[in-house]
Amino acid sequence: MKTATTLRAALVATALSTAVPALATPVDGSGVAWDIVEGLTTEIGPRPAGSTAEDRARDWSAAKLTALGFRNVRVEEFKTLAWQRGPERASLTAPYAQPLAITALGFSVPTPKGGLKAELVYFPTLAALEAAPEGSLAGKVAFIDHAMRAAQDGSGYGPYGNVRREGPTIASRKGAAGVVIRSAGTDGHRNPHTGVTTFAKDVKPIPAGAVSNPDADLIARTAARGKPMAIDLTLMGKPFPDATSGNVIADLPGRDPSLPIIVLACHLDSWDLGTGAVDDASGCAIVSAAALAAQAGGQTLRTIRVLWSGNEEMALSGGGGEHYAKLHGAEPHAIAMESDFGADRVWQVNFSHAPENKALADKVNAVLWPMGVVPHKGRAEGGADVEAIIAAQKLAVIDLGQDGTHYFDLHHTPDDTLDKVDPAALQQNVDVWTAVLKVIANEAGPIGKFEAAQ
Ligand code: ZN
Ligand code: ZN
Repeated sequence: MKTATTLRAALVATALSTAVPALATPVDGSGVAWDIVEGLTTEIGPRPAGSTAEDRARDWSAAKLTALGFRNVRVEEFKTLAWQRGPERASLTAPYAQPLAITALGFSVPTPKGGLKAELVYFPTLAALEAAPEGSLAGKVAFIDHAMRAAQDGSGYGPYGNVRREGPTIASRKGAAGVVIRSAGTDGHRNPHTGVTTFAKDVKPIPAGAVSNPDADLIARTAARGKPMAIDLTLMGKPFPDATSGNVIADLPGRDPSLPIIVLACHLDSWDLGTGAVDDASGCAIVSAAALAAQAGGQTLRTIRVLWSGNEEMALSGGGGEHYAKLHGAEPHAIAMESDFGADRVWQVNFSHAPENKALADKVNAVLWPMGVVPHKGRAEGGADVEAIIAAQKLAVIDLGQDGTHYFDLHHTPDDTLDKVDPAALQQNVDVWTAVLKVIANEAGPIGKFEAAQ
């Protein structure tokens, strides 16, 4: 039996060699998406960037894509800064003793031995924390509340996600010894949501965690009583440098290999609390099943490539998207697309295209209207896995917007598991992506550069 490593070596060797062994005939795409999400969540599960599980996931993915009939299946590893979770717990110790459901944020540093016991200071918003005087939080733990609500387009993740992304740096600047936030999430389960935070270069990294929404409500009610609060906080997760992550890429060659290609991205890594079913096994499943389905009636004109990116979740810089652009930036690309917003139905489409490609966008809209997918006036941006190649080549982008009403109930929690994926909604994604690919991958005319308005 081949070990995972030799299997990968064989696959890499296959990609490099000119004597191509028997390859699978591309399958037609039906049932493939579910099969990928089910397989990845069952046979691998959580696959944080830089972990051995993410490494096993690369082997799994390369074998899967090869079996599905993709060509030029390659694993492209890279070094990255990663973060590993440790033991974590917290409780409110004053004015009332209450356990808190907490999880560390990525790039939190460990609390001191025996835990951090400190005054807990309540801030209703990120702006309130920003307004606190310098040094006023010395030795204390800041708690940052917010009011994220569910939205169909998921837009609350921008402003409220900033509590997670920027709050810890601001708290550290004010002298805080630690920071706890209300999870960037919209559910009422006692599940905290993890996710990366960042510390600006000029601040000292501090322990940083998120409590579940019900626990944040409890802290807010306690704070409203006006008595001093105290917390006992243990978060032992820590960064580790020189971790190995990697991308898996695979092609379905088009009839004219000289034409710029279509690249479809997702990310293979996941957070560790759930099994990464909606974030983002579903994305990899959708793009790959659609690429196959688009070729079911014969090869498309242009090559379709799938990029299953490594280290999207913890990539402060230099994740899979950047590595892809570094290795493949010289190959002509035409359009980039990404699926990384769960498994709910697609309801809107956005474009970024050159003025001369309006007719192509109209053709895409024409196939989407009957599927109930409506044009939106926003600009398509792709996402973290394709932003580097988009920037490098000024690529046209198409975003297929999924219904995000429930996405932030599950996002980065233990609830991100297979049972949350509705097979019918997953298949609707595949059908919509397939319809789009049949248009754009068969476009014979030039696909221009997108020059973003300044
Ligand atoms: Zn994601
Ligand atoms: Zn994520």
